[in-house]
Amino acid sequence: MYDVAIIGGGPGGLSAGIYAARANLKTVIVERGLYGGQMQNTLDIENYPGFDNIEGPVLSERLYNQALGVGVEWKYGNVQSVKLEGQPKVLNLGDETLEARSVIIASGASPRPLGVPGEAEFTGRGVSYCATCDGALYRGADVIVVGGGDSAIKEAILLTRFANKVTVIHRRDALRAAGILRDRAFDNPKIQFMWDTVVDKIEGDNRVTGVLARNVKDGSTQIVEAKGVFIYVGVDPVTDFLKGSEILDEWGYILTDEFMATSIPGVYAAGDVRAASLRQIVNAASDGAAAAMKAYEYLETL
Ligand code: NAP
Repeated sequence: MYDVAIIGGGPGGLSAGIYAARANLKTVIVERGLYGGQMQNTLDIENYPGFDNIEGPVLSERLYNQALGVGVEWKYGNVQSVKLEGQPKVLNLGDETLEARSVIIASGASPRPLGVPGEAEFTGRGVSYCATCDGALYRGADVIVVGGGDSAIKEAILLTRFANKVTVIHRRDALRAAGILRDRAFDNPKIQFMWDTVVDKIEGDNRVTGVLARNVKDGSTQIVEAKGVFIYVGVDPVTDFLKGSEILDEWGYILTDEFMATSIPGVYAAGDVRAASLRQIVNAASDGAAAAMKAYEYLETL
């Protein structure tokens, strides 16, 4: 029986683990992938306090080692369903179950598909959701980035290290991305923008050859040739194991109070999976710390 079971090993879960273990709580983190979560897909992190620039995989490893160093148990597993009401709380990992007196859900979010013909077919053959992972495959090539948020613009800038030309296709005429990223993108001669434009289809034979783009203002269409299409149109919460739960909002994010507590006693959430969270590493870390401290207080009352 654990004091705290944490679902997800990104910055929210790892921070929660560090705080919980340092409060002498028997703590396990269950993660289905690599430690660090989305940080693993980010080459340069430039806004985590204390580091003007740190690579995502490096920060991930430091947090992971720090958590293990203070006594967090790491468990590879995919949480399929949970029983959160009452005591004990139970995590079903398919081939085994875990019991804990409190649960912190820090399962994060994953890239949202665009949902157009050709996308699923060409994923891994020109369609990608991770420029950090796949960018080097497009040396000297023309590539497309879809989206106008921080992720799209950050990754478009990264892709200019490899690609000949990066075309950002955005559905509006203004970027959502933060000012510093916007300025860098506008100053980069390898990046060009197609405003007010959506992708209706991803074209290819064996691999991607381009996209069918449509201007939403005048309805005109054109084929934009490219070897790679990088899609950054937002993220969806990873809460499939909570289907139908009262703690989810209508988009599947977890509702908490300001102390990360859900409406179920002993159940907390941290990081990108939380509704209305600012989806930054520093916020996930902060949420994780608060959730662990509140779990500690809850356990004291049992
Ligand atoms: P996001 O901020 O939600 O941006 C998604 C972008 O995709 C928006 O520009 C949106 O257009 C566009 N979009 C959404 N659905 C679309 C569709 N069906 N077709 C075409 N375009 C579509 O998502 P994100 O960039 O992945 O960022 C997620 C969170 O992580 C944000 O809070 C962001 O600040 C954070 N983040 C921060 C950094 C950093 O360096 N600080 C880096 C990466 C991510 P509209 O603008 O028209 O809605």
